Amino acid sequence: MVNDFLGKVGKGVNCSVSGCTNSAERSINREAVANSGLKVSGERRAFLCHEHYKIWKKSTKKDRELDRVRFK
Ligand SMILES: [Zn+2]
Repeated sequence: MVNDFLGKVGKGVNCSVSGCTNSAERSINREAVANSGLKVSGERRAFLCHEHYKIWKKSTKKDRELDRVRFK
């Protein structure tokens, strides 16, 4: 729980993705998560478990590539 650049997540915090009950590992700006297509609850920060963090990272990468193609 130390050395987390994206934000510390306390013990007992669950993943903010709807339907997910894993405990959270990362806290990320909610809008950044929403843009990736993941459904999250919460106000300003979203908490992601290990699995959803991986999905989020993957989807943000993909979005950026798609945007580049779309706006060419
Ligand atoms: Zn999750």
